[in-house]
Amino acid sequence: MGINKSRSNQQKIISVMVPYKIDEPFQYFASQNSSLSLGDFVSVPLGQKIIIGVVWDKHPKKTVDSIKLKKVIEKQNIPPMSKSLLLLIEWVSNYTLAPLGSVLKLAMPPLNFSKNHDIKKTLFFSGHIPKRLTEGRSKIINFIEKEPGCTLEEVIKFTNVSKNILKVLIKQGYVKEKIIKENELLFEENFNETIPELTKEQLLVSGKIMNEINKNNFSVILLDGVTGSGKTEVYFEAISKVIKKGNQALIMLPEISLTEQWLQKFYQRFGVEPILWHSSIGKKDRVNAWKKISTGQVKVVVGARSSLFLPFKNLDLIIVDEEHDPSYKQQENVIYNARDMAIVRANILNKPIILVSATPSLETLYNVKIKKYSLVKLKERYGGAKLPSISIIDLNNEKKTPKKWISNSLIEEIKKCLINKEQAMLFLNRRGYAPLTLCKKCGYRLECNNCSSWLVMHQSLNKLLCHHCGYSINYPEKCPKCDTENSLVLIGPGIERLSEEVSQVFPEAKQELLSSDLLVNHKETSNSFERIKKGEVDIIIGTQVMSKGHHFPYLTLVGVIDGDIGLVGGDIRANEKTFQLLYQVSGRAGREKLGGSAFIQTYYPNYPVMESIKKGLRDQFLDNELDNRKSNLMPPFGKLASVIISSSDENEAMALAQKLSKIAPKIEDIQLFGPVAAPIKFLRGRYRFRILLKASRSAKLQSYIKNWILFNRYPKRVKVQIDIDPYTFL
Ligand code: ADP
Ligand code: ZN
Repeated sequence: MGINKSRSNQQKIISVMVPYKIDEPFQYFASQNSSLSLGDFVSVPLGQKIIIGVVWDKHPKKTVDSIKLKKVIEKQNIPPMSKSLLLLIEWVSNYTLAPLGSVLKLAMPPLNFSKNHDIKKTLFFSGHIPKRLTEGRSKIINFIEKEPGCTLEEVIKFTNVSKNILKVLIKQGYVKEKIIKENELLFEENFNETIPELTKEQLLVSGKIMNEINKNNFSVILLDGVTGSGKTEVYFEAISKVIKKGNQALIMLPEISLTEQWLQKFYQRFGVEPILWHSSIGKKDRVNAWKKISTGQVKVVVGARSSLFLPFKNLDLIIVDEEHDPSYKQQENVIYNARDMAIVRANILNKPIILVSATPSLETLYNVKIKKYSLVKLKERYGGAKLPSISIIDLNNEKKTPKKWISNSLIEEIKKCLINKEQAMLFLNRRGYAPLTLCKKCGYRLECNNCSSWLVMHQSLNKLLCHHCGYSINYPEKCPKCDTENSLVLIGPGIERLSEEVSQVFPEAKQELLSSDLLVNHKETSNSFERIKKGEVDIIIGTQVMSKGHHFPYLTLVGVIDGDIGLVGGDIRANEKTFQLLYQVSGRAGREKLGGSAFIQTYYPNYPVMESIKKGLRDQFLDNELDNRKSNLMPPFGKLASVIISSSDENEAMALAQKLSKIAPKIEDIQLFGPVAAPIKFLRGRYRFRILLKASRSAKLQSYIKNWILFNRYPKRVKVQIDIDPYTFL
């Protein structure tokens, strides 16, 4: 415990960690009789500011002369951070090499948390009339006598007397304060379960999961079930058990767009809404959620990455849905994989965790193979629905029409689907209208000012946007380079352009366009999902937000416009990710009585990933991939880390990158590649260079990096970022 006695009798020295980009706590004085303990939230002075920090366990390496120490201001009215969360924060910081304070920041209460939002102070008359009775005073006393139980603000508002007069009356005891907790509906009160009848297979799997969970120890269970097999219904059983015990469950979903249908399902089953947690919930909801989670009042939380750091009181079970999803990897500030850190949290708590997917990641499958994780499988779709048939459309054999992206074969299939009054979905993982705009006279390409990337035309906004930094310009009338008018041409399709083509080919069909930038409004999103579910939409055009999780009863045909999109670039997971995406998006088709089919347009029909997806040979494909990784000692057989050196000054960044590579200690089980200019060399105004480390599984990668890279010792403009287990290599 970070509490030391100082020489003076009245004061002790404690360590307080603050949510800033630093690695060690600061020391403060606290009065000897203050009851501060580990995990308590306290306000402390820092520079000119007063901020909230957490009483911490470790001492700074260099202690400060106690004369210079400042005092803790006060303990906050916030439930202290649990030991397990403190441990998680330290663990994440040690693993990712992000500063301890930056990780702590992820777990801090929302601003203004400690203000008592649901506790009211109400006022009552004491029964004693003040000796000195001015006009203001008597107004107040009369009012309070008639209307007991009003708040201070209400009394001021109705009597129109100055606040100070009332405060003095309270201080002198003529008016009494009483603290009242506003009534809150407790979760259990509404909890009203409608239990579905599980199929034989579901029952079996659910039973196995329960057996594991009942041990009430740390264990990782992979729930591997084909698309539409009812994985959600099966893990709801486990959640139900947790709720009945009075404990809490956390369900993580990789994307906000998936929560809509999930919440509906949850409501149907449990008759209540769980707490939702992600980056775009409002401030008030945030405070409310934090409070109810920390007091244990709320039993079920569904959230994105950041929900991992919530202050659960008695977390009993974690579920990571779509565990393979790359968006669990946070790419900024603290660079961490929320799935992996969820496993760490379960481990620290000694509780079970369920990973759920129809296309588990290679890492997870490998852990099943070596018996670190247990496996349960759902092989059938619910309700007798069949898995979709998957066909490959070889674009090399199709007639090419300029500015058209839907092949004739696919058009024929869509026609049949529409004649049958069924729904089709066209999938293209590109937002906007066109990914590239160039001048046909001089060849100039419209690029972002802050990044080395093309600007993407968004017709709906009539703007060109950078998808990396948000930079935007209006569509220019002439080429910015050669000044020729009307010389700009838009190259390639985004979903807006695809939608234009659909309107030309199927003028009667009702379309719905869905991508992350279009799904910002909660109400609109839920309306558009509702229209799709009711069959009021004929053709859905979507990006990856539509690729997984969704269940649309009338959807029978899925057409993938560019099946090759993920195959380019040197990403070691390119094949795996492409397979997962194509399998998931195909899995949206034929999820009820109507059979489904998927068509994938590609220029590489003979690639193993296309062959396997066509034949439905998932396990064989994954085994092959595992073999490949093994022979190259790539994850999960080896470990990777990226070092990204960036600066607004290109030479400065390059010089440091070269220097780091030169001074890197040479050891046998860690290889170093680079530095090379990053594929996106210029990003958000910074030039970037990359060094890749490849290590054996047993190598001490983190301590190697810590000994090699001396953070904070480089010129101020240069940033050195570490990405452990990188997912992108841009
Ligand atoms: P998955 O997540 O495995 O793709 P879902 O959980 O979305 O599958 O299930 C597919 C559909 O089948 C959903 O509409 C779900 O409500 C329904 N379903 C699955 N199992 C049952 C069951 N036992 N009883 C009723 N409906 C079920
Ligand atoms: Zn940019």
